[in-house]
Amino acid sequence: MKTESAKSVMQAYQLRVKRLLPGGVHYNFHLPWEETPIHFVKTKDSRVWDMDGKEYLDLYARFGALIVGHGNREYNECLKETIDRTLSVSHCDMDAEALELIAKFVPSAEMIRFGLSGTEIVQNALRLARAWTGKNRFVRFEGHYHGNADNIMGGRRAKTGEPVPKDFPGDLKGTLGRARDCMESQSYLLPWNDADALEDLLIRHGDDIAAVITEPVCVNGGSVMPAPGYLQRVRELCDRYHVVLIFDEIITGFRLGLGGAQAAFGVTPDLTTLGKALGGGGVPVSALVGKKEIMQLLTEKKVIHAGTFNGYPLGLAAVKATLEILSRNNGAAIDRMNSIMQQMHAILKEEADAVGLPLVIQGPPSCASFHLCSEPLANPADYTFDLLALDIILNNNLARHGILVSTVSRLYPNISLNEEDVEWFREHAGRAIADTKEIYDEM
Ligand code: PLP
Repeated sequence: MKTESAKSVMQAYQLRVKRLLPGGVHYNFHLPWEETPIHFVKTKDSRVWDMDGKEYLDLYARFGALIVGHGNREYNECLKETIDRTLSVSHCDMDAEALELIAKFVPSAEMIRFGLSGTEIVQNALRLARAWTGKNRFVRFEGHYHGNADNIMGGRRAKTGEPVPKDFPGDLKGTLGRARDCMESQSYLLPWNDADALEDLLIRHGDDIAAVITEPVCVNGGSVMPAPGYLQRVRELCDRYHVVLIFDEIITGFRLGLGGAQAAFGVTPDLTTLGKALGGGGVPVSALVGKKEIMQLLTEKKVIHAGTFNGYPLGLAAVKATLEILSRNNGAAIDRMNSIMQQMHAILKEEADAVGLPLVIQGPPSCASFHLCSEPLANPADYTFDLLALDIILNNNLARHGILVSTVSRLYPNISLNEEDVEWFREHAGRAIADTKEIYDEM
């Protein structure tokens, strides 16, 4: 249905959608920087095409879920075969393969339960931690994001006390409609990368703290790495105060190598939440994995974990196919993906340097972020609204010039990236940088 004001096929379509879909999107985290989402009609490997025929390099990758690339033949065949054979049963013959693959690679995965979203599986991790310890509250950190539930949606955390500017409606930090006091009564919010602050809190309140939940690399806070020894100290403190350590590896899982951040940093949490890349990018699937003695509470039915579609066949097929693809040749595909992505990082930086635009790219190559500043962020709390607003300018310019990047400023590669994509990146990123520099100079 084309309206008179629409300038293209896609704009007409967007207007049609917006009449029924609040904000024109299915999730609010698009809203502050994208007036209208782009609707796609075709995909191949790392490329996507919108309704007006424009081609993009997709480093958005569905918030980091897409790791096998668009239209991966092996992955799609596995899904198709499952659709034809066992689509709608509640337990199919792929449980064992999917479970064993996760257990083989993820150090904390002594036992595993599947869910659909990261949000729900995080809540199940907290429930298990409360049940296991008999304690009530949990510790979360500034700048970390653990899903869309009332009691934890912290998202972007400005420096303590910094007000949320008016032009960030529905900012990731704040939402109306939460149950009263659910944040304050259930959790403590601490600065990250500060083990002394955690120790101090545990000394004072350790007898009512059931869990510490952390992204092991704070990707949502700007891809900030843990300070050397920080995760080890968090592990020791959790042991000392009988607190369940939960690594939220919904982004880092299978991106930082097959064993995720826990293998990369050599720190094994008690419980781990997995999602996104676990399902390759095509279907929703999440997992709660952890120590047998804690997960055993589910076996004993002392703790309930439920969900109509948990362990559904397409999800299992996606896990099996993804982990088989990623693990072949000792994870060579991930190494290759990372090295191609690093070439793109270098290009972006060269282009910025050439025009004098301050730019840092930080974090692991599989989930790095760029920031329009001159020093890497040492802490997620340093990711201020001012910096966020600058990063969004480059985000938008990259998209205008055919490179989609994730919200905000994150560059998510997938294993289908190749040299041609690097050339595309070189050509298009240069233009985006030049346009950004012009706006930057006028500010
Ligand atoms: N945890 C982390 C670290 C995330 O980045 C996200 C989503 O971005 C979630 C949890 C929530 O996952 P989902 O969006 O699947 O509910």
